[in-house]
Amino acid sequence: MAATVPASLAFTWIALSATATIAAEPWSIAAAAATPTVVREECASCNATALCAAHQKAEVAAISELAAALKSKDPFARKGAVTKLAELDHARPVGPSAEVAKLVAGTLDDDVQHVRVESVKALAARMHPDVAVPALTGALGATMKELAKMPFGRADWDGIAGGGAGGGPTEPEDPKALERRKKREELHALLAEQVAAIRTLPDDRSVTALVELLPQLTRWHGALLDATAQGLIDFKARKGLDAVVARIKSSPVGDTGSRWGGPDKTGATLRDLLARGLAETASEPVPEWSDEEHPDWDRWFARNQKHFKAKLGKYGLEQMKAATGASPSAGS
Ligand SMILES: [Zn+2]
Repeated sequence: MAATVPASLAFTWIALSATATIAAEPWSIAAAAATPTVVREECASCNATALCAAHQKAEVAAISELAAALKSKDPFARKGAVTKLAELDHARPVGPSAEVAKLVAGTLDDDVQHVRVESVKALAARMHPDVAVPALTGALGATMKELAKMPFGRADWDGIAGGGAGGGPTEPEDPKALERRKKREELHALLAEQVAAIRTLPDDRSVTALVELLPQLTRWHGALLDATAQGLIDFKARKGLDAVVARIKSSPVGDTGSRWGGPDKTGATLRDLLARGLAETASEPVPEWSDEEHPDWDRWFARNQKHFKAKLGKYGLEQMKAATGASPSAGS
């Protein structure tokens, strides 16, 4: 989506959000009919800091209608309301609303996966950072807890990386284990969305969340492990880079694989991500990877940590405006 709303379109959102786009959905027909509609495309009374009385009233009506839809029993209605709230928020001439972001954040722990995913994506797409940062980092922690408390029994190993009786992938025979497998896959997919969202929010709380996740991820998490490490490398915060180095140090050198799979390349992969990510900093080159033994990572980190940020600070509205203003394609 576009980073900025053209002035000529800035005031069409009330009409859109209150009637046109949602009237087609059964849950909103009654509410839409009762909602005041402001159809004019230009407004001389609204400005960059405040909405005029008419638009203010229309916004309140649109938000309360969508807030009601968030409580629908139909998950698709809830998901649709999240999408509409994000659209409404993007089109506000006065910038993102913390109130709208809070409504969306309330669906991060929805019972249904696709609603949760929609909520994560909406919050990451330039919604109010005062709400988005704590909500998304909190949601990541909650997903980790949910995964950690799921039992992992013998039956859960069936079919993992060729661990089945025949050596090839199989479904667990135990229906409960199969159910857990599906839930686990769902939660990992959610984690991936949450990590992708948090990577767009350079803030110390984001660093902390990814630092806590990284040691929980094994080679079997593949892309999620790489994305989490890459996020920490991109932030260039000292604490985050320290965590990436610790993850490299905990990876084996010279692994030759086992019945569970080929050699563990985690250390070499993360080392390459780190080398590439730090190429532009003044730090000394990242040590070469060796399959014989680990280089002295502690020494390298101690000598170079001064080139990394001690703190990122808080990602607020001003930071978001600066970040998205600097690049016209930001947020697309
Ligand atoms: Zn107005």
